[in-house]
Amino acid sequence: MPELPEVEVLTRHLDPALRGKTIRDVRVHRAKSTRPTSARAMRAKLVGAKFISVTRRAKYLLFQLKTPRRDPFTLLGHLGMTGRMYVQPANAPLPKHAAVTFGLGRRTFVFEDTRYFGRLTLDLSPLETLGPEPLGDDFDGSILHAALRRSTQAIKPKLLDQKTLAGVGNIYASEALWRSGISPRRAARRLTHAQCAALAASIREVLAEAIACGSTVPLDFAGTARRDRLFYYGSTTGTQGFEERLRVYNRADEPCDHCTTSIRKITQASRSTYFCPQCQRG
Ligand SMILES: [Zn+2]
Repeated sequence: MPELPEVEVLTRHLDPALRGKTIRDVRVHRAKSTRPTSARAMRAKLVGAKFISVTRRAKYLLFQLKTPRRDPFTLLGHLGMTGRMYVQPANAPLPKHAAVTFGLGRRTFVFEDTRYFGRLTLDLSPLETLGPEPLGDDFDGSILHAALRRSTQAIKPKLLDQKTLAGVGNIYASEALWRSGISPRRAARRLTHAQCAALAASIREVLAEAIACGSTVPLDFAGTARRDRLFYYGSTTGTQGFEERLRVYNRADEPCDHCTTSIRKITQASRSTYFCPQCQRG
């Protein structure tokens, strides 16, 4: 499942590939993939529009577009569980699970999604309820403290709540808590200002390191059918990714890098949490 770093790396890849390109043709192969926008509304709004830029908010891709003599507008993308977005030559065959495609002249933009949980839509309402952006310029311990202070929920599942903090997934929540020495079971509202400052810094660190890693490895955005380690697009060279640097995630019963205590795996809100019972007692 793509997490924030994958979406950021994809955004940086798509921005130069799409910028300045005009959509000549819109094909909605799966009606579900543009919901609640209809295929007809997609065509009416998008045909003739030109890409201005591609940016990211949480795990959403924001495609800014402009049609001559009209105001710029945004197309919202989300990869869901299995989505891929890439540009291929116009004469290349479409993948079996093509959900939405845009003809761009000699190139075709492809949104492929084998399980159809992703979206490419003109409905921007999912953005309205998102919490602070962890890589935003102003994100710090005091913003995190304000977001957590009323919650009796344990900190680990609370970090996955998109209204609390936007875009921090399961892997990065466990990793950031280990780095800041905070127990995943501690009630969110009991985190001190100092702990929130450490946690905010750790969240930024783990996300930035994963993005740096994904930006240096040659990724195959059209992907393959196999499970591709952490960066699920898969690398074109078989290079090992950020997963090698994970300190607790998926490492149950292995020794902690700090203290050699065995890493524990527990389940919180139906998701796996990994932590060091010695280092994360706070
Ligand atoms: Zn430890």
